[in-house]
Amino acid sequence: MNIYLTVILVSLAGSWLLGVLSNALSAKHMAPQPPREFADIFDAQTYEKSQTYTRATMRFASIADTFNTALAIAVILCGGFNWLDTIVRSYAFSPLMSGLVYFAVIGLFSSIFSLPFEIYHTFILENRFGFNTTTVRTFITDRIKGLLLTGLLGGILLTGVLFFFEKTGPYAWLWCWGLAVTFTLGLTYVAPSWILPLFNKFTPLEEGELRQALEEYAHKTDFTLTGIFVIDGSKRSTKGNAFFTGFGKRKRIALFDTLIKEQTPEEIVAVLAHEVGHSKRGHIKRRLAVGVIRTGVVFYLMSLFMQSPGLFAAFGMEHISIYAGLIFFVLLYTPVSLVLSVVSNYVSRKHEFEADAYASQTTGRPETMISALKKLSASNLSNLTPHPLTVWLDYGHPPVLERINALAQSDK
Ligand SMILES: [Zn+2]
Repeated sequence: MNIYLTVILVSLAGSWLLGVLSNALSAKHMAPQPPREFADIFDAQTYEKSQTYTRATMRFASIADTFNTALAIAVILCGGFNWLDTIVRSYAFSPLMSGLVYFAVIGLFSSIFSLPFEIYHTFILENRFGFNTTTVRTFITDRIKGLLLTGLLGGILLTGVLFFFEKTGPYAWLWCWGLAVTFTLGLTYVAPSWILPLFNKFTPLEEGELRQALEEYAHKTDFTLTGIFVIDGSKRSTKGNAFFTGFGKRKRIALFDTLIKEQTPEEIVAVLAHEVGHSKRGHIKRRLAVGVIRTGVVFYLMSLFMQSPGLFAAFGMEHISIYAGLIFFVLLYTPVSLVLSVVSNYVSRKHEFEADAYASQTTGRPETMISALKKLSASNLSNLTPHPLTVWLDYGHPPVLERINALAQSDK
């Protein structure tokens, strides 16, 4: 059997197996009683509900993953990529145009196939546990906006990549690297003012106790905050959250209205302090640097493999093309990307502990951070005791129990 095909099939099946195994283990790993640290916030009924929710989410994820993996393998083995290529080629577009059409058709098909899962997830699963507040109208407009935006932004990036690989010879990967980095940084810069408002309403936080407390904290830690916004997260879900957008002098924090409703001003300051911690400890810059290096390596490897006849033979292709090579390389890269994601989750969990410690030191009140975390996990029905394999594979944040214990330790 073709070595490329072997690697791709084994890694697709392997990552599916790991995922399903991890979900099954986590579903079994739950303790019958809430850990004692949570006794005050998870009553028996909430705890029971959180377990049912975890099991339902895990089952759903396994089913979706099984379907997607089976679909991908079927398309590969049945020669789907060559079939589509033959159709696209019959129109005799330029290579660049053929590439755009090829990607558009694949993108469109994959969104059609994922739609039933998204509908089920939003309107049945999340609804059953009282999280969903998305109306059908919001759901539909979200999908349309998402598709148009991906088409536009993805189209621009793809045009550049195809153009460079077509025209700039052995240094194409360098050009693509430059393009991708500039593009991503540009997007991060304009996202707060151009892209995020397409999906949510951002309102400046009104004057009052909360605003004053947040500004005081930012001032105390010498952190430039150009804006504090409330975002209407309640438009889609009752789950609470907060995040930073923009960088440099344009940093702003967005607090979900659902978070403000549930947490006290002191707890929200702790949440801000945690985010400030990420910035002060250099996590954001380091992550950015790693991302830039990773992108370069991916494009370099891509340039080595994307035209290899063996790779095209693996997919039963009659013609070699740059656009199909891009897709095949991404599939070939599956095992590497799995390993990298485990490593990056590990680093990210370490960063979370550091940011928590920063919040605890600068506010001088670890117990407030603890109560903020506990409230968040109760209202989001988080799984308090995930299996280590699940943490290892998927958790960019440490299990909440570990975070609370680390904070309590720092208090002593
Ligand atoms: Zn964090």
